[in-house]
Amino acid sequence: MINLETPRKFEQLVSQAHLVATEIFRANSRKYDRAEHSYPKELDMLAAAIDGMNEGGGISGAGAGTVGSGPSGNGASGKGRSGNRNGSNMASLLGLIELCWGDVGLLLTMPRQGLGQAAIAAVADEEQLARFGGKWAAMAITEPEAGSDSAAIRTTAKYDEDTDEYVLNGEKIFVTSGDRADLIVVWATLDPSQGRAAIKSFVVERDNPGLKLDRLEHKLGIRASDTANFVLDNCRVPKENLLGSPEIAPKGGFAGVMQTFDNTRPLVAGMAIGVSRACLDRTRELLAEAGIEIDYDRPPHSQPAAAADFISMESDWEAARLLTLRAAWMADNRKPNSLQASMAKAKAGRVATDVALRCVALAGSVGYGEGELLEKWARDVKILDIFEGTQQIQLLIVSRLLLGKTSGELK
Ligand SMILES: Cc1cc2nc3c(=O)[nH]c(=O)nc-3n(C[C@H](O)[C@H](O)[C@H](O)COP(=O)(O)OP(=O)(O)OC[C@H]3O[C@@H](n4cnc5c(N)ncnc54)[C@H](O)[C@@H]3O)c2cc1C
Repeated sequence: MINLETPRKFEQLVSQAHLVATEIFRANSRKYDRAEHSYPKELDMLAAAIDGMNEGGGISGAGAGTVGSGPSGNGASGKGRSGNRNGSNMASLLGLIELCWGDVGLLLTMPRQGLGQAAIAAVADEEQLARFGGKWAAMAITEPEAGSDSAAIRTTAKYDEDTDEYVLNGEKIFVTSGDRADLIVVWATLDPSQGRAAIKSFVVERDNPGLKLDRLEHKLGIRASDTANFVLDNCRVPKENLLGSPEIAPKGGFAGVMQTFDNTRPLVAGMAIGVSRACLDRTRELLAEAGIEIDYDRPPHSQPAAAADFISMESDWEAARLLTLRAAWMADNRKPNSLQASMAKAKAGRVATDVALRCVALAGSVGYGEGELLEKWARDVKILDIFEGTQQIQLLIVSRLLLGKTSGELK
């Protein structure tokens, strides 16, 4: 059964992540919010420190790059074990919550993190893991005509028998860390006439001459994170860079690729929990400065409206946190968690966005100004309700799974 206390073995990780969040992320939050597209060089020092720490014992488990392999997978540290355990998914989640309490934009641009590593961990073979493991890998699924419906992608991958390479052509947009990462995991179809079964992922080196940076996006929030748009123009990759099987299997293939999300969605939910806890912590301080005490021993309706509002936000936040812990715990314990991962992401994305804006409201003009990070967090948090599947898409997935409908039956 799940134990809701922070596992003792992760206490050090959590406290180190909190230290990084305070000393490095918070200290540079506003600077890189203003200096959009400039590289946060302070993070290089951090990456070097992370490399030097042991897996699990330090902060090394604190990023998306370290999650396990699929809903039935435990990551490297959990192979062959079953039962009640907290593995790399839980470690990553707890670390991310703390780091995003510091700054989610900086977390997203931390060297060697990146959701592309989750895809590599989920599908790569031993040889590919040796080549690509530990590198900074971005994920390129979205296209101008394919966002929520990722099966609609049009980027093609044609096999060239003469050179034993795949030749990729198409356009990819909104690639987080696309400019700074070492690798981009690109989704492309081997045969557009065969639908989702023909969609495969390919690892493309960032310096591949066929991968052309078109532009960087200017954004509402997470401005420290670079968001890149690319054109793939006869982009040649060795056939060994295709992740998974090159066969077009009518059943199971695409579902396998989609299972990566079962690991990454709880992590994005965790990011939302971290940002919204930052909002709650700061708002509690501002309320205290204004003389409003929050009394947990009295019913909310008998307290000032601001205190009652705060208590209701906290209870929503706690519900989101518990759903998210469950989804990550299930991944570590080899339990299928697609339903719980989507529930967690839907709840956390909605609650965090709501909490951030309500905290700005409670703080009034102070909350809206640049003198406080509240206004930044309220901008940053919205992306967590959009990428890795929007709020609406998570609810659609939950409905399908509860009702036993296929994606064709419930759209
Ligand atoms: C800052 C940022 C970073 C990103 N990073 C990455 C990345 O690293 N890699 C990557 O591949 N993508 C990335 N994305 C893309 C992101 O995943 C997509 O924006 C998201 O999947 C939604 O796709 P869309 O923007 O095309 O919206 P659409 O799919 O066009 O949706 C528009 C609206 O319609 C709703 N909607 C769509 N279909 C349905 C439906 N069937 N039922 C109900 N409502 C529906 C959506 O929820 C949304 O509200 C990023 C986006 C942003 C903004």
